[in-house]
Amino acid sequence: MNDMRKMFKKPHNIALYPERTEFQEFGKPARGYRRCRVCNAIYYDKSWHREKQARLHRLLSLHKIWVATCPACQMIRDHEFEGKIMIENIPARFQDELCHLIKGFGARAYEQDCQHRIIAVTKEDKRAWIVTTTENQLAEKIAKKIKEVFDKVEVKTSYSRAPDDVERVRVSFKPFYEFENKRG
Ligand SMILES: [Zn+2]
Repeated sequence: MNDMRKMFKKPHNIALYPERTEFQEFGKPARGYRRCRVCNAIYYDKSWHREKQARLHRLLSLHKIWVATCPACQMIRDHEFEGKIMIENIPARFQDELCHLIKGFGARAYEQDCQHRIIAVTKEDKRAWIVTTTENQLAEKIAKKIKEVFDKVEVKTSYSRAPDDVERVRVSFKPFYEFENKRG
């Protein structure tokens, strides 16, 4: 214990000097605030927020804000994901509508919570797409929406065990002839 005290009394053991000069230049850092270096999301009140440009500029001009990488950007950088939707047998005539639906859903999710994102829509081929998301429940929500809109699809969800925690959802459009028969 005594040794510890002695150690901290020595001023050269305290490693914050470079940052201190930065504090003096920019004013005190905003307490608890972080800015994502990739997407500019701001962390405060225990979560990440997407700020309107004007408020972001004001925050940055008033405070020094520590730079970090938000969990969603980190996940994307590490090529990881929490949700995966595999969509199969997509009829050609529904492809545009499906693409529009997925993008719209992703945009609304991001609007509500900047950590909920579609990472990518990968087209394996014209009839099979893979959608990855930063949040596991987002995958299931998108799958439900596809079922609701297109109706003639089957949705199967599987969860991988912790610590992976990835939610995988398989969405299969029923074979084309079934559509035709039931519609007739
Ligand atoms: Zn970010």
